Amino acid sequence: MRKLFIAAAVVCMIAGCARTVREQSETLFAMDTVMDLKVYSNSDTALSDAHAEIMRLDALLDRGDSAGDIYRINTEKTAVVSSETADILRTAIATSEETDGAFDITTAPLSDLWGFYNLDFRIPTDGEILSALDGVGYQKIQLTENTITIPENTAIDLGGIAKGYASDRVVDVLRASGVSSAIISLGGNVHALGSRTDGRDWSVGITDPDDKNRLIGTVNVRDKAVITSGSYQRFFERDGVTYHHIIDPATGKSAASGLKSVTVIADSGIRADSLSTALFVMGLDKSAELWRKNGGFDAVFVTDGGSVYITDGIRGAFKSSHDYSIISLSDK
Ligand code: AMP
Ligand code: MG
Repeated sequence: MRKLFIAAAVVCMIAGCARTVREQSETLFAMDTVMDLKVYSNSDTALSDAHAEIMRLDALLDRGDSAGDIYRINTEKTAVVSSETADILRTAIATSEETDGAFDITTAPLSDLWGFYNLDFRIPTDGEILSALDGVGYQKIQLTENTITIPENTAIDLGGIAKGYASDRVVDVLRASGVSSAIISLGGNVHALGSRTDGRDWSVGITDPDDKNRLIGTVNVRDKAVITSGSYQRFFERDGVTYHHIIDPATGKSAASGLKSVTVIADSGIRADSLSTALFVMGLDKSAELWRKNGGFDAVFVTDGGSVYITDGIRGAFKSSHDYSIISLSDK
C-alpha cells in the first residue's frame, strides 16, 4: 500500500496531477486593440507563452514598427521577409483573388489619407483619393519566395488579417502547452479552443452594431474563429455623414455595400479575419454567392436597415431574440 502511494506521488510530481485545471486570464493591449485571454489549464507557462507570441507578431506585422517586416517593405519597396510574413502575404493575395479585390492589403495609402491609421480623421478631396488609388491594387505586389517588391506609391497594411492570424498562432502555442480549453478575444476577434471545461460549446456574442453594449445574437462553437468587421468599430462623423475604416478598394472610400457588420465563423482565424473584411466590402448578395460557391465558412450579416441574415451552416448554432433570415444553398 505504502509502495503504491509513493509510486502515485512520483507520477503526480512528473505529470502535475496535484495542480488542477484553473482559469487563468489576462488583458493586454497589442495590435492597436484590447485583448482578453482566458485559458483553462494547469500550465504555469501557457498564458505567458501566448502573450509573448502576440507581442512577437505585433512587432513583425505592425507597419509602424521599424523592426518589422511590413515597415521594411513599405520603406524599402523591395525586401526579403521571413517565410512567415511571406505566407501571410500569399494568403492575403489569395483572398484578394477569391473576393475579386474586395480584400486588398494595399489600401494603406487610403487609410492614411482618411486618417484612419493615425486617428487624425479628415475628408480628402476626390483628387487626393484618385492619386492614392494609383498605388492601390494587390496585383501590384510581386512576391517570389521570400522577396517582395511593391511600387514606389504602394504600401501594405495587414490590419484586416493580422489579428486573425495571431489568434491561430496563439491557439497553436496553447495547444503545444497541452491546453484543451481556452477563449481568446483579440479586439473582438474571438477564437475558441476546444470546448468549455464542462464539455459544452463556447457561446460567442455578436455585437449589435447599433449598441455596442448589446448583442444581436450568439453562436455556439468549438475550435472556431468568430470574427466581426463592422462600420461601428472605427469611424468619424462630419456633417451627419459617417465615415468608417473599411475601405472599398474600387472607390477609395468607406465601403457602402448596405451592411453594418459581418461576422465570419471559420476553422482558422486568418480566413475568418480576411473574409470578414472582404464580405463587408462585397455586401450581402455577393457574399452569399461566395459562400455558396466556395464555402469553408459561415457568416452573420447585419444590414443597414437592421435585418439579420445567417448562412445555413450555423442554423443550429445561432441564437437570437431578433428575427433573422437564413441564406441557404438552394436560394438564388
Ligand atoms: P477588419 O477590422 O478586420 O475588417 O479590418 C479593417 C482594417 O483593415 C482597417 O483598419 C485597415 O487597416 C484594413 N483595411 C481597410 N480596408 C481594407 C480592405 N478592403 N482590404 C483589406 N484590408 C483593409
Ligand atoms: Mg478582417
